Amino acid sequence: MAQKIWLNGSLVDQENAKVSVLDHGLLYGDGVFEGIRVYSGKIFREKQHIDRLYNCAKYIRLDIKMSKEEMIDAMHKTVEANGVTDGYIRLVASRGAGTLGLNPFHCPKPTVFIIAANIQLYPEELYENGLAVVSSSYMRNPSQCVPPQVKSLNYLNNILAKIEAIDNDVLEAIMYNSQGYVAEATGDNVFIVKDDIVCTPPVQAGSLNGITRQVVLELAAQAGYKTAEKNLTRFDLYSSDEMFLTGTAAEVIGVVKIDGRTIGDGKPGAITKDLRKRFYNCVNE
Ligand code: PMP
Repeated sequence: MAQKIWLNGSLVDQENAKVSVLDHGLLYGDGVFEGIRVYSGKIFREKQHIDRLYNCAKYIRLDIKMSKEEMIDAMHKTVEANGVTDGYIRLVASRGAGTLGLNPFHCPKPTVFIIAANIQLYPEELYENGLAVVSSSYMRNPSQCVPPQVKSLNYLNNILAKIEAIDNDVLEAIMYNSQGYVAEATGDNVFIVKDDIVCTPPVQAGSLNGITRQVVLELAAQAGYKTAEKNLTRFDLYSSDEMFLTGTAAEVIGVVKIDGRTIGDGKPGAITKDLRKRFYNCVNE
């Protein structure tokens, strides 16, 4: 069955889901997006994702011209039309087609599309064995430039770091801010465990306030672990007892090597595994 894409108000076959070459999302990365999971037929943390999308749209002064309720309804229709019970939703709101100039206000209406598909970012064995990562030489965008809290279509900063990771034969890179503190990975948030405390950088260090990050912080606290949102240095990562990444697509995945240094005993740690298990229980509740 052809995949159905929700595009500007209706569900169309994928081959007919086309956007203009004058869309500023394409020309300038001018737009916002969300990645959302469906688990057991339920959209995970739907409200948080939609709130984030609308807050990001507000930041870039994009009027999506749909209410949050209409957006949620469109998402449900797309999921249903594609028979997705466990999968991934990509929701994009771009500035829409306009003139060749930068002026976003010459784009009369936004382009909104929703894709619901299956996803497996990493093979199962990586969840068992953990990832290796490198530190990126690219600084994460400072918030005076493109704020990392805005989930915009402008991902070149992350993509350049991702290329660096791939050139180093690993799949993820850690990005730091202008002060040398850990910001985030190219598509995930970063956590460490040190002396039984589950730590992650504050979003102000230069990261997206990941929904998975928020869920993991909640689950860790519920499980009785001490948690801390505090600035982390490269030294903190190298000397951590455990390290893991969180994200909608990656979920919770252990990191076992960074810049050639082994974390812990080179296997995902006990707290990482516990939080991963708790995350699965939570999404399938
Ligand atoms: N940081 C970046 C740069 C991301 O792209 C993502 C994925 N959306 C995350 C962090 C994790 O956020 P979330 O848990 O909401 O998917």
